[in-house]
Amino acid sequence: GGFESLGLCSEVYRGVKRKGYRVPTPIQRKTMPLILSGADVVAMARTGSGKTAAFLVPMLQKLRQHVPQAGVRALILSPTRDLALQTLKFTKELGRFTDLRTSLLVGGDNMEDQFEELAQNPDIIIATPGRLMHHLSEVEGMSLRTVEYVVFDEADSLFGMGFAEQLHKILSQLSDMRQTLLFSATMPSALAEFAKAGLRDPQLVRL
Ligand code: AMP
Repeated sequence: GGFESLGLCSEVYRGVKRKGYRVPTPIQRKTMPLILSGADVVAMARTGSGKTAAFLVPMLQKLRQHVPQAGVRALILSPTRDLALQTLKFTKELGRFTDLRTSLLVGGDNMEDQFEELAQNPDIIIATPGRLMHHLSEVEGMSLRTVEYVVFDEADSLFGMGFAEQLHKILSQLSDMRQTLLFSATMPSALAEFAKAGLRDPQLVRL
C-alpha cells in the first residue's frame, strides 16, 4: 500500500512526490483508503504521525480542481493559529500542481483581508472556530451548506480550549451530505459524544 496504489490523479501524486514523501506512514496507510472510499473516520493520531497529509491527500484528490460557482467545499478546523498556518503550508505544498484555492481564517489576522480572500471563492477554508463563527455572523450570504469534506484536527485540543459550543454551532450549519473526519490524540467523553453527533457510522482507526 504505497502512494502509487491509491489511484491518485497525477496532480496530487506529483505533489506528494515533490514534498518528498516516498512511503505512507502507518496512520496514512490505514486512513487514506477509508477516506477515499467516502467513509467518516475517527483517527487516533498525534502530531508527528503524518496525520496532516492523511487528511490532506484524500481531500485534494476529492476536490481535484477549482470550481468557481461551487462555494466552499472543504473545511479544516484547527485549535490554534499556529496549527492552521502549518496546515495551510502543507495544503499549498501538496496541492502545488492543482489550482485549488485556500483561505485561512484565524484570529489575529485582519478581518478585511480575510473578507477579500473569501470573495475569491476559495475551495478550502482552514480556520480556528472563533474566527470562523465571527465570519459566519458578519458576512451576509456566507454559508457552510456547500461543504462536502470537514476535518476536526487535534479535536481533543479543540474541546480542551473551550470551543465545544462553537463546534456544535458549526456542525448545525453543515449539510448532512458531508464526509466528516476527526483526528485526535485522545478521546475524552465530551469528544466521543461530539463524534457520535457529528459523524455517520465512523470507522475507528488507531495505530
Ligand atoms: P504531522 O504529524 O502531520 O505533523 O507530520 C509530521 C511530519 O512528518 C511532517 O514534517 C510531515 O511533512 C512529515 N511526513 C508526513 N507524511 C510523511 C511521509 N509519508 N513520508 C515522510 N514524511 C512525512
